[in-house]
Amino acid sequence: MAARTVAGVDVGGTKITFALWAGGGVAYREVLPYTAKSSVEFSELVLKGLRDLQANTAGQDRRIEGVGIGCAGMVDQQRGMFLFPPNMPGVRDVPLAKIVRSAMGIPTFLENDANCALIAEWVAGIARGKHDVVLFTVGTGIGGALIVDGHLYVGKHGYAGELGHMHMIDDGLQCGCGRTGCLETISSGTGIARYANGALARGVKSAMTAEDASSARRIAEFAHNGDPLAVRAFKRAAGYLGRAAATMINVLDPELVVVGGGVTESGLIMDEMQRVARRYSLPLLFDGVEFAMAQYRNDAGAIGAALLAQELLQGHPVYSSPNLAEGAALL
Ligand SMILES: [Zn+2]
Repeated sequence: MAARTVAGVDVGGTKITFALWAGGGVAYREVLPYTAKSSVEFSELVLKGLRDLQANTAGQDRRIEGVGIGCAGMVDQQRGMFLFPPNMPGVRDVPLAKIVRSAMGIPTFLENDANCALIAEWVAGIARGKHDVVLFTVGTGIGGALIVDGHLYVGKHGYAGELGHMHMIDDGLQCGCGRTGCLETISSGTGIARYANGALARGVKSAMTAEDASSARRIAEFAHNGDPLAVRAFKRAAGYLGRAAATMINVLDPELVVVGGGVTESGLIMDEMQRVARRYSLPLLFDGVEFAMAQYRNDAGAIGAALLAQELLQGHPVYSSPNLAEGAALL
């Protein structure tokens, strides 16, 4: 079937990215700063961006046939609702699929952002044609997503794949989820900065100032120049990602582990992550798995959201749970 014209939206705490996917590529994109202070303002912002995309198709022989929306935080795919996006104060329980559908008359689907990033890779990127895939996205936080047996695995309630909240250490730092010692507290950009800053505060020698050590990007620059503390901060982060990957490999027997997000683009994660994953995986399982960097970067969420809409409109069985596909489209 010919590729459809679909729109993807990636909702983040500082900006909303809109992408029009047509003819197998991004035909138009727009980024709006996130300025909403309430659920109503948030919905209006999403509608404004979508209307801009729609205006961009005017006069052309195409129209938006479906909308996918990805968001950091938990979503209810079946009812098309954002439950509680963690970085969007005042926004809670928004029936966004219904709002878009009634305002624009277009079928609309919701997903979380890590699932969207994996859909981008699975439908049109590095994981194309794969049946069993694990994705880690390592940025300010850590997201995860799973393709199991040829389907996006979302679990019983739609929340599966929270790889960033695997418990790694006792007496660890407080996580955004409210518990302690999660992978995200160690290996995210925030975790790397907290580790480096803590070491500086204890008097560990480094060329970094406290300000340098507050940004994973700056720490990466020092690591590339051989600063021992900066190198150790990234090695530790990569090592725990390797442990987490080993667990996923032992549990799921995937064929591919995809690693993406700003922290991994430092070039300081993949080798050590693989080395440690090899040490803690069963050999038979590790030998059958590839590691790869994500192909899509900043627009992965918006592109994946658009491709989710495309796949569902074409009747492809994206989800492990058959009743999920119907939900939002039927509102
Ligand atoms: Zn956590």
